[in-house]
Amino acid sequence: MDSMVNPFACMNCGGEMKVQAHTHVEKVGEYRVIIQAGPVPTCAACGEWEMPMARLKAIEVRSALTVLLEKRNMSSGVLKYVRRVLGLRQQDLGRLIGHNPQVISRWENGADEIPRDVHVAMVGLLKLAETGATPEGLLRALDAPADGPSELTAEPPPEPPQLSQEFRAAV
Ligand SMILES: [Zn+2]
Repeated sequence: MDSMVNPFACMNCGGEMKVQAHTHVEKVGEYRVIIQAGPVPTCAACGEWEMPMARLKAIEVRSALTVLLEKRNMSSGVLKYVRRVLGLRQQDLGRLIGHNPQVISRWENGADEIPRDVHVAMVGLLKLAETGATPEGLLRALDAPADGPSELTAEPPPEPPQLSQEFRAAV
């Protein structure tokens, strides 16, 4: 049995992994977001830690939202980070927010200032990602036929109230 790999050994140095509270530092463009990420297996020797992909993704989305909600202007570095976290290519993001990929590229290169409405749109996309929407799901919504079957039904407008009796008066 000594040929068995210890599942609790550090992938980096072979040291012992112990579950401990993790303060995560996430770099979002030129900012650093510090997140209390709860307990994760951490190597006592070298500090290496492990986290499931889904949990790491949630931290990235939360970090991006933190920066976008704190800062009025979105920098090129933050936009690049947000697009990567959303799992979108420049052309995908362009389709979602109605700009061509060259425009996205100019924002990410810092050649043009990023408009305020794009900042707001990115907050919306990150909030959707936080509810579990995938990049594929976001793009599929654009491709759905406009007259396709829909779960939405419209309520008929209310009838104008009928008066049961009419009074006339004169002075
Ligand atoms: Zn280690």
